[in-house]
Amino acid sequence: MLPQISKCDCVATNGSCDRVATKDASCPFERRSLLEELAAKGVRLTAQRRAVVETIQDAGEHLDASALLTQARIREPNIDRATVYRTIDLLKRLRLIDELDLMHLKGEKHFYEVKTRRDHVHLACFQCGRIEEFSSIAFEKLKSELATQTGFEVRVTRLEVGGRCRACSTKMEELPKH
Ligand SMILES: [Zn+2]
Ligand SMILES: [Zn+2]
Repeated sequence: MLPQISKCDCVATNGSCDRVATKDASCPFERRSLLEELAAKGVRLTAQRRAVVETIQDAGEHLDASALLTQARIREPNIDRATVYRTIDLLKRLRLIDELDLMHLKGEKHFYEVKTRRDHVHLACFQCGRIEEFSSIAFEKLKSELATQTGFEVRVTRLEVGGRCRACSTKMEELPKH
């Protein structure tokens, strides 16, 4: 009998990756531990802030501030909006999370997620609203080429692609033509 391998459970691959990813150092989507990183930097957290940090860490999707607030309140009922924004600011300043627009599919909201080992690209489907994540070494090469040629010190890169996902384009093709 083959040993049971627990498949990748990162947000990015939705279980379609055959790696034992969350523990596998070679997975580009591995997400760091925010609490460990903050402790290493000597940042002390109140119970409220810790609840926000844990909520971002455990999120199975990209969350906006109000979704974060709702979910963090399950852990710590007394959290207010200001604490959520201050914690987001802190994590952004320390470059532990990314802030995304996700093609403004949901208006002006911003979404947050723990940085992955390697930056990833977001694909937003205009039709069903699905967000897919894509990682490629070519993106890393582009960043280093850009840095070398311009002398620009790159701190944040964000690439979002809007269009139609595979499922939606397939559905469109199946529609009878009139
Ligand atoms: Zn779609
Ligand atoms: Zn993402």
